[in-house]
Amino acid sequence: MYQSNAHEQWANEHRDCDSQPSVMDFARVSFVLSEHAGHGPGCAQYLAALTRASSVLD
Ligand SMILES: [Zn+2]
Repeated sequence: MYQSNAHEQWANEHRDCDSQPSVMDFARVSFVLSEHAGHGPGCAQYLAALTRASSVLD
């Protein structure tokens, strides 16, 4: 299914907590936030998604 393939690809692209993700659309932001929830302030993926989420919601 399209949805599950997309999520597999995202999981692969965003699996490294130390790497800064590139531009994300809102669906991907939501995905990263749930994948990296609870990783704390050392998780660059989570922080970038949070920053992106606040700008998307503007
Ligand atoms: Zn993480």
